[in-house]
Amino acid sequence: MPTKPQSHAQLQAARARAERGGDYDRRRGSAARRGYDGTWRAVRQQQLQRHPLCEHCLAQGRTTAAGEVDHIRAVRRGGAMLDADNLQSLCKPCHSRKTAIHDGGLGHRLTALAG
Ligand SMILES: [Zn+2]
Repeated sequence: MPTKPQSHAQLQAARARAERGGDYDRRRGSAARRGYDGTWRAVRQQQLQRHPLCEHCLAQGRTTAAGEVDHIRAVRRGGAMLDADNLQSLCKPCHSRKTAIHDGGLGHRLTALAG
């Protein structure tokens, strides 16, 4: 018998690779969900309980119930997902407006607003 298909050492190495791969896939899986899981729901709920009014409306003297939690600095721009300091309560119109302005959605662009 010239060579065995796999030595004991090779089997162990393969098993170790598989285990590392499993860990990696689990981490990647949760990252792919970008934290929008049970923890985010809890943090979001807490934010709305602490700040039940839209903060943009409040700044303009209006009292509007907030139904949405906004990331002041967008998560994809490096903002902290679960940090209360990066969260603000907004009503839907204010949240949509902010998203449109900051993401350049609905045909608006930052350059157009600045000009
Ligand atoms: Zn508002």
